[in-house]
Amino acid sequence: MTTNHDLFTRALGVIPGGVDSPVRAYGSVGGDPRFIAEAFGARITDVEGRSYVDLVASWGPALLGHAHPEVVSAVREAASRGLSFGAPTLGEVELAEAICDRVPPAQRVRLVSTGTEATMTAVRLARGATGRDLVVKFAGCYHGHVDSLLAEAGSGVATFGLPGSAGVPAASAAQTIVLPYNDLAALEAVFAERGEEIACVITEAAPANMGVVPPAAGFNAGLHRLTSEHGALLILDEVLTGFRVGPSGWWGHESGTESWMPDLMTFGKVVGGGMPLAAVAGRTELMELLAPTGPVYQAGTLSGNPLATAAGLATLRLADARVYAHIDQVAATIAGATGEALTAAGVPHVVNHAGNLFSVFFGEQAATAGVHDYAGATAQESWRYPAFFHAMLESGVALPPSVYEAWFLTAAHDEDAVGAILDALPGAARAAAA
Ligand code: PLP
Repeated sequence: MTTNHDLFTRALGVIPGGVDSPVRAYGSVGGDPRFIAEAFGARITDVEGRSYVDLVASWGPALLGHAHPEVVSAVREAASRGLSFGAPTLGEVELAEAICDRVPPAQRVRLVSTGTEATMTAVRLARGATGRDLVVKFAGCYHGHVDSLLAEAGSGVATFGLPGSAGVPAASAAQTIVLPYNDLAALEAVFAERGEEIACVITEAAPANMGVVPPAAGFNAGLHRLTSEHGALLILDEVLTGFRVGPSGWWGHESGTESWMPDLMTFGKVVGGGMPLAAVAGRTELMELLAPTGPVYQAGTLSGNPLATAAGLATLRLADARVYAHIDQVAATIAGATGEALTAAGVPHVVNHAGNLFSVFFGEQAATAGVHDYAGATAQESWRYPAFFHAMLESGVALPPSVYEAWFLTAAHDEDAVGAILDALPGAARAAAA
């Protein structure tokens, strides 16, 4: 039998770090990453034949669970008609319409292949539209591995404790201003000083790449107010939250209480149903600045790939109110049980929520002061997580291999899967106490 260890050793011989995306490497939790052979519903199975209840969900896309039969059959059917044409298709139009129908600020949509491409394009559009260069981002927010957006980024950059990335030219880094999250006064001060140079403010709609840190009431609306007052654009990055926290993403989730419109938005993950697909969207007059109608160039050989649009469309069509109600309810159950297990084991912690997204922060400071920004997130007792993670894994539950990630539920997390998680939590909480 091929073991995870054998495969990881082989991978290290040909792939840097043995993985094609850094956090897969178990670098912050230790041990060999599990090489996955197959996944159905709420469960993944590794090459050794061990099955785990999955709380990673491909880092978000698997909203309906893995290999949903109707999504797989839509992809099969599309594949039977050709893999890629490099020409427009019906599927692209239908998926763009589905996005516009669900998310009103999306008046026009350009499909791309990854979230990174989507945020890169959104920033270029904002610069092209305003004739300004500076980008404001928030510490702990991750927007993909775009040069200008890697400073103090979340996700793997946070997991490995990096300030940013080597290879980003100083001139490019100098075009990015990083501010503390949830701090409108800091943004106000920067606009007062350099307002005429700022092209855009980019933010995760609800950050989930430094752990989950929800926006304070009125924060996103404040970003909208300040950007519009100063002639800058607001880019709402919904790559992670879009179509996951609800049919119209975090914007829809929040706009019941606040009235505000982002200028540009980005989507990824769920919108591609597990295939490489993402999107940049926004106001018509801004989006029409993209080539071929406008001067801002953007292109992609595989953009709007027919298999990916088929998976995305099938996923969005199946993601009805029952799916979201189920995920909301299961997320609340697991988050509540996690908090109870940690309390029973005497582990100080706080569980943060943003809709159906949640994550745990360990330590007295997190428990007493809460976690509202990246400084709070990184001050946690992250050393407790490896023991917690491995205890869950031993009990057959695969969590994200980083304390800085959200736990992802799916429509396929049924009573059986939830029961397995609930059974595993007390032992993991005791491991985190040690
Ligand atoms: N934006 C956010 C909020 C993300 O969470 C991610 C990925 O995790 C990205 C952008 C980048 O997307 P991708 O990994 O598809 O390039």
